[in-house]
Amino acid sequence: MIRYTVKTESDMLALGERVAALCSRCGFIALYGDLGAGKTVFARGVARAFGVRHVSSPTFTIVCEYPTDPKLYHFDAYRLSDADELYAIGYSDYLREDALILMEWANLVPDALPKDRLDVTIEGSGLDERTVTITPRGMKYEEAFHEDPCI
Ligand code: ADP
Ligand code: MG
Repeated sequence: MIRYTVKTESDMLALGERVAALCSRCGFIALYGDLGAGKTVFARGVARAFGVRHVSSPTFTIVCEYPTDPKLYHFDAYRLSDADELYAIGYSDYLREDALILMEWANLVPDALPKDRLDVTIEGSGLDERTVTITPRGMKYEEAFHEDPCI
């Protein structure tokens, strides 16, 4: 588990960008935190590592797909009534792709998260600094995020 203090929105973008690079831009990142914590800001930082400049929130669409290489899929579980809605839009197929998947509000779909993943929890709100806790789950992520990855 690694913990960061993130003072500004631009620091959060930089953290997302660095984390995406450490994951080799492939895998699964589960984002936790209340409304306004900064999950979408972090996701925009991840997208920046793919050269994507404009990220809209997938709150009303469940998923935003970016035609990058590898592909980037940005999910938001906030408005789902349950995980079945994810599977109804082909979630299992998304998981099988060589892609990076971001899941905002991952706590709402705990059973739909792959066992191997990076958990990113953001605490704080408003203009306050944020505490970001990164917990790698599974060997690939543990190796990439062993102590002090110099983010
Ligand atoms: P979420 O997706 O978690 O609901 P957003 O990323 O949409 O939250 O919003 C976070 C808000 O907090 C943005 O308006 C952003 O400008 C603001 N903010 C202020 N300080 C920070 C910080 N240190 N890190 C991230 N966002 C911050
Ligand atoms: Mg959001």
